[in-house]
Amino acid sequence: MTAYPFEAPESQALLERAARVTPGGVNSPVRAFRAVGGTPRFMASAQGPWLRDVDGREYVDLVCSWGPMILGHAHPGVMAAVQEAATRGFSFGTPSENEVALAEEIVARVEPVEQVRLVSSGTEATMSAIRLARGFTGRSKVVKFAGCYHGHVDALLASAGSGVATFALPDSAGVPASSAGETIVLPYNDVEALEAAFAEHGAEIAAVITEAAAGNMGVVPPLPGFTEAMRRVTREHGALLISDEVMTGFRCSAAGWYGVEGPYDGGAPDLFTFGKVMGGGFPAAAFGGRADVMAMLAPLGPVYQAGTLSGNPVATAAGLATLRGCTPEVYQRLADVSSAIATATTQELSRHGIPHVVQWAGSMFSVFFREEAVHNYDDAKAQNSQAFSAFFHSMLSQGVHLPPSAFEAWFVSAAHDDAAVDKVVSALPAAARAVTE
Ligand code: PLP
Repeated sequence: MTAYPFEAPESQALLERAARVTPGGVNSPVRAFRAVGGTPRFMASAQGPWLRDVDGREYVDLVCSWGPMILGHAHPGVMAAVQEAATRGFSFGTPSENEVALAEEIVARVEPVEQVRLVSSGTEATMSAIRLARGFTGRSKVVKFAGCYHGHVDALLASAGSGVATFALPDSAGVPASSAGETIVLPYNDVEALEAAFAEHGAEIAAVITEAAAGNMGVVPPLPGFTEAMRRVTREHGALLISDEVMTGFRCSAAGWYGVEGPYDGGAPDLFTFGKVMGGGFPAAAFGGRADVMAMLAPLGPVYQAGTLSGNPVATAAGLATLRGCTPEVYQRLADVSSAIATATTQELSRHGIPHVVQWAGSMFSVFFREEAVHNYDDAKAQNSQAFSAFFHSMLSQGVHLPPSAFEAWFVSAAHDDAAVDKVVSALPAAARAVTE
């Protein structure tokens, strides 16, 4: 069947079996390889920086579960914490100490966050933050930026990044016009458009939600002054600013993107959302911020929000062990590994005369196959996705698993040792050649 460098018969068989009982054979669309073609690899196990698929092949993992696995797979400290928690029960449906400890850990790291509520996914975190902002302000409109992804929340799917960008969907079917009509979509990094939207609708806007540094259209950091402008304009009009740090939180630095770019002139965002790293590979996420805003939440206030598995004891144990494991040495290793891989990639692509640009947010980076810098979603869409697909498949065939989309960040972990980095680097010459063929 294949135009791809090698086949994966066991993965293919599993995909066919899965497709009989699950739409497209996957439980999250970005896993499906639709953008790059070929068969998604079904993984059997993972250790450190390595993934092992059901065909017995090994890959250096540059997806890291789309961000969470910052310490690497099956990290011994996280494993011990999970095992210890699991022996004491899987879910209590009552408060428990690990929830308190995880909340304390987050509040201690991100200075403007005074209170947090734990949830199970980034989607729940942003959905709840939006509801809270609406409840607090008594307004209904929300501003988001094209190419930013905040989970599959009805109001936030318009012109979204991640899988919505990967599959070039205009928007999602099934979102009622009444819901989409409350969303104002603006170009990222465009202060003029922001000011114009507020000049027209300022009194109706509950919140601006932004990826702290965009990572779901590839990595596109805010231009200098953009975050400050969002803060200024929202303040002037009585709207809240929500910084979505689901991807950047505890990855870009111990305090996430806020630790890289903040504190901001004019004040911090009112609310933050977190996920990925803070769950250590388990379903844990959070939203939090100003205590007076958080006090609007049930049981204290009138904004309802809840979850059977929120603050799950095993997930919070994994999250705590992961956050506590994120030492300065871990952040240094992330920076060194990212820089080694990005530098080698750019050298090899340049040697073959392939137009590209590498963009960064802390140690998070991605490679766009286009010459000019990418500042917004239109720029990101103007990359050469076919070049990426050829590059991706060559890397995969040589044992390096990149995200299967040109619109995603490349993630590394502190467990990426020199052997893993060498394997990536040695795969680059053939991958660059594949782009030119
Ligand atoms: N917000 C951002 C910035 C994300 O990157 C994601 C997921 O990729 C989400 C929200 C949604 O998180 P989840 O997939 O856990 O629902």
